[in-house]
Amino acid sequence: MPIYEYELCDGTCAICGGKFTLRRPLSAPALTKCPLCKKPVRRVFSSFNTPQLTKPLSLSDAKKAGFTVLKRLGKGEYERQ
Ligand SMILES: [Zn+2]
Repeated sequence: MPIYEYELCDGTCAICGGKFTLRRPLSAPALTKCPLCKKPVRRVFSSFNTPQLTKPLSLSDAKKAGFTVLKRLGKGEYERQ
């Protein structure tokens, strides 16, 4: 389950500290209120938790970076010469 980071839209809260992280399933609806104090919150897109969001990578980007998509060196079974 991914960990999401939230902060209060306004003010602060003694319960959650105004900023908190929450482990939620991908299928869960977007969190709009602090589950503790019920104040409105917004999602924080931090590079700490989701570095891939700061620099979106496509398959072509991966190839340009030197990744071999079809040959998996870890298993060795695809590396045949
Ligand atoms: Zn709170």
